[in-house]
Amino acid sequence: MLTKLYPMVQFKKDTWEIDEFDCASMFLLIGTEKAMLIDCGMGIGDLRGAVEMLTDKPILLVLSHGHIDHTGNVRQFGEAWIHPADAQMPMPESLERRRSDIEHIARRQKSCIGAPYTMFHLYPYDILTDVREPGVDEKMPVLHELQDGMEFDLGGGRIVTAYACPGHTAGEMVFLDNQTRTLIAGDALNYNLGVGAVPLETTLRAMKRLKDLGSEYDSIYNGHHDFRALGAPLDDDCLPTVIAMMEDALAGHIVPCQEPSFWGQDIPLTRDESAKPRPLWSGNRVTLRRGRNYLSIDPDHLYETP
Ligand SMILES: [Zn+2]
Repeated sequence: MLTKLYPMVQFKKDTWEIDEFDCASMFLLIGTEKAMLIDCGMGIGDLRGAVEMLTDKPILLVLSHGHIDHTGNVRQFGEAWIHPADAQMPMPESLERRRSDIEHIARRQKSCIGAPYTMFHLYPYDILTDVREPGVDEKMPVLHELQDGMEFDLGGGRIVTAYACPGHTAGEMVFLDNQTRTLIAGDALNYNLGVGAVPLETTLRAMKRLKDLGSEYDSIYNGHHDFRALGAPLDDDCLPTVIAMMEDALAGHIVPCQEPSFWGQDIPLTRDESAKPRPLWSGNRVTLRRGRNYLSIDPDHLYETP
């Protein structure tokens, strides 16, 4: 039987953060009529089974973007909403690539406490059985277009609005929940942000809009609990710092950070070096740093009009 032992926290009423064993965070928002699941991880275990332990409402799956660690269990669900710019990405990614990234994340997380390579025993899953090819009955879901400004009515007055926030991917979306005044940002915003799918100028405009929406939310949650505790929001400085860093870069102040980026840290590896993750973006990459904020950009892709 596939694992359902995801750590999970109800951090606001009818609002859960589900942790896919350090790989990714999924969010479950339960209304009186429907439940919205935001993202579906790398594809470890029986996510749908775990969600159905929390709610018996029909599940509406929306995807913040098309990356491997947000779409892995998509075939457990009959339909999903995703921005068309990301809809061509493989869902899920290959089994080999998913296992490789999961191993990388486990090494990154557990090596910091000095665990040996048997660290997988610290997680309640088995990478060989819980990370799998989709079953024959798990067909590609019907994909619906997720567009800027689209509203989802979960019942009982709970409305979730999707906003486009291109940068991390061209189809990156964030979700604003009116009931709990929460912004769920996928990978659009975090302390180790990678952008470059669109000109930086376009991304900055989207970031400023998130800031302008600030009177409608009290907290922001991103798609990984790496620089925050499970169930705890991002600190308030994250968004203004990212905006300031982007403004600086667009003004020509691009000073590469001397330290390796979060993903590029020199982690003691005890096996196959070739299992390192491939870069998520093509083109040049430069990592900038301000305090604990890392921002990886493409210095050749800054302006909408070159
Ligand atoms: Zn991503």
